[in-house]
Amino acid sequence: MNDDSTPTHGPEDPSALVARLRATFRSGRTRPLAWRKQQLTRLRELLTEHREDIADALHADLGKPRAEAYRSEIDFSVREIDHTLEHLEEWLRPESVDVSGVFGDRASAGTQYDPLGVVLVVAPWNYPVQLLLVPVAGALAAGNSVVVKPSEMAPATSTVIARLLPRYLDTDAVAVVEGGVPETTDLLAQRFDHIFYTGNGAVGRIVMRAAAEHLTPVTLELGGKSPAFVDAGVNTAEVARRLARTKFANAGQTCVAPDYVLTDPTTARALEAALTEAIEEQYGADPAASDAYGRIVNERHFDRLTGLLGSGRVVTGGQTDRAAKYIAPTVLAGVRPDEPVMREEIFGPVLPIVEVDGLDEAIDFINDRDKPLALYAFTDSDGTRERLAAETSSGGLGFGLPMAHLSVPELPFGGVGESGLGAYHGPHSIATFSHRKARLDVPLPA
Ligand code: NAD
Repeated sequence: MNDDSTPTHGPEDPSALVARLRATFRSGRTRPLAWRKQQLTRLRELLTEHREDIADALHADLGKPRAEAYRSEIDFSVREIDHTLEHLEEWLRPESVDVSGVFGDRASAGTQYDPLGVVLVVAPWNYPVQLLLVPVAGALAAGNSVVVKPSEMAPATSTVIARLLPRYLDTDAVAVVEGGVPETTDLLAQRFDHIFYTGNGAVGRIVMRAAAEHLTPVTLELGGKSPAFVDAGVNTAEVARRLARTKFANAGQTCVAPDYVLTDPTTARALEAALTEAIEEQYGADPAASDAYGRIVNERHFDRLTGLLGSGRVVTGGQTDRAAKYIAPTVLAGVRPDEPVMREEIFGPVLPIVEVDGLDEAIDFINDRDKPLALYAFTDSDGTRERLAAETSSGGLGFGLPMAHLSVPELPFGGVGESGLGAYHGPHSIATFSHRKARLDVPLPA
């Protein structure tokens, strides 16, 4: 069903919209497993039938290379949906607990997952498909109605989603609201049963304040500076390859990208050369000419990022082109902790190397700052792994391969402290978008 004749809902007053979706939820239509699976299947069809339209939009918004658009946005979302379709019934199964010792043999007790009602999903621009549709899939899988708010900073993607979603999904239960701050502010004034926000911490606070008015639970998927600790003695050529592949994907505009490297001075020297080589291996001598390399989302972020290039010493990269919103993959060495590039989340293709004298100082460095969304480490030592796991706090912890933890749907994806609140993916989305209801039955005597 992808013809242009399917009716779409025009701009609707937010309170009327939420009331309409709530009426659908109250009718019980979104509860049955069959409805949930049908919506997920339709969402999957949207993604596969419109692969090219979506990839075009991602290219228009972010210069996102096609292979990257498939891998990290479209296919990623399809895989999450497939995994959910395969396991949903098992995830939703009620669990029982033994109460016979307290209430006798005829009593029973357990928990069941109840959908919450009407969920609001507010998404950012950097992965404007994945970070919008994976939470939407979770909310639908849990049996909710959903208001879907794409980012206005990825306008082509927002338009394509707003055009396609109503053609594929149940329009009485799912609605797209496009727009920026005024539209989101109007939505946030409504009473939702859950708000799922991905973006920065300043807006996260606005969302949480608005949610508090209605005692609405929130999930906040935020960002921060995710460190990558590189231990002495590791294979720096392979570490550099893995760092380059993850840091410079989407031109560094990834919430879980390694933000900076922490390492000892000797390893730093080896990494400088290895990163230069790895970047050339990946994007050629002139990354501006590579069709595997993306662009910066807008001039504001471009200007912010070029302002960070003065920190430390440029090892490789540093070239910029404002008209093309291009910033070369850049490595900065000898960066001091008080320099601008270390004072904010970079969210761009700039990788500073900060020197510490070893693991103890690295752990202190991490713990002196906000809890990051991810912590990465390259080490051959089990002792180092265990110390990092036990002595630091971060949303996720990845050894050997940055960013890969979020492609494992059985792992919760979320932050802690400044990097966020709550988690999702796979069964964790069901937990987020449901209420786990306690149920006890003590029958009357026969
Ligand atoms: P953004 O500017 O697209 O904002 C996200 C959403 O918030 C948009 O839908 C926007 O309309 C809305 N918004 C913006 N200002 C608002 C306001 N004043 N009131 C109400 N709503 C408002 O995205 P962004 O914040 O620039 O995204 C980048 C940040 O997001 C980085 O910090 C990054 O680390 C983080 N991030 C986190 C994750 C994650 O999964 N944890 C993923 C991607 C990005």
